[in-house]
Amino acid sequence: MPSPSVPSYRGRFAPSPTGELHFGSLLAAFGSWLLARHARGTWLVRVEDLDPPREIAGAAQRQLRTLSAFGLESDEAVLRQSERGDRYRAALERLLAQGLAFPCHCSRSDLAAVGGIHRRCVSASERLGRAPAIRLRVADGSVVTFQDRIRGAQSQDVAREVGDVVLRRADGYWAYQLAVVVDDAEQGITDIVRGADLLDSTPRQILLQRALGLPTPRYAHLPLVLGRDGRKLSKSDAALPVDPQRPLPALRAAWRALGQAPDALAGAASVPLLLTRAQTEFDPGRIASTPTVALAAMHNGDFIIAD
Ligand code: GLU
Repeated sequence: MPSPSVPSYRGRFAPSPTGELHFGSLLAAFGSWLLARHARGTWLVRVEDLDPPREIAGAAQRQLRTLSAFGLESDEAVLRQSERGDRYRAALERLLAQGLAFPCHCSRSDLAAVGGIHRRCVSASERLGRAPAIRLRVADGSVVTFQDRIRGAQSQDVAREVGDVVLRRADGYWAYQLAVVVDDAEQGITDIVRGADLLDSTPRQILLQRALGLPTPRYAHLPLVLGRDGRKLSKSDAALPVDPQRPLPALRAAWRALGQAPDALAGAASVPLLLTRAQTEFDPGRIASTPTVALAAMHNGDFIIAD
């Protein structure tokens, strides 16, 4: 008898080109790559260039070049969200036709007056000449629960904590929440591995998958690395970029931040050797289930992960 078809593992790393690749992004890239390789799966890179006002010219190309210097190359052609407006439009039109999405003229200040969460339109009038945002209608009592592979059981009342989710912004740009759901489904992603800063976006993405009749992948949210000042390392925080000329120290630090045994990579003197060793020695069970991990400090230009 033919065995039931089980989709093989497909993971991805999906950076936004809003800055240089920094240590936090390297951790998400390396962590998602390691989990994909551990499962003998496919690993993809997707450029999430949806938000031109926040993008930095040339950053996408530089991020891809830096990933290559770290030996992390997409197994298939790199998808660019800026080229996929037709797909997002088709999904949005389906939701509108089914009454699952609606145009909304509420401004940020309209919503601030009602606690910042959209449950019904409160704008007094349609703003002349201003296009509406489009939102997903989130029914009362939309509590989403899921099992995160690293963080365990998760639950969020999306109606109360998030409200109706923006799918297309009033300025006409596609919202990350819609694009990520459409692309993950179309690329057949089975496993989403990313930083814990996106943990609370996951329930709204699951609701959107359900509204569009798409499968829900497995999720694993990696701990965030804190900077020396105790704050998250993020692209906009002027976090220090990783140096593509010196991949080995950064890969070793990322390995430590993923909870892996430091000695496992001792003596690996080139990127290919280090990655081969890392693939063999990687133990997913060692990744910390805490929201953050040890402080990253800098020493002579290298990241150091505290013990
Ligand atoms: N593009 C998002 C970011 O750079 C990540 C999206 C995701 O992994 O779902 O923060």
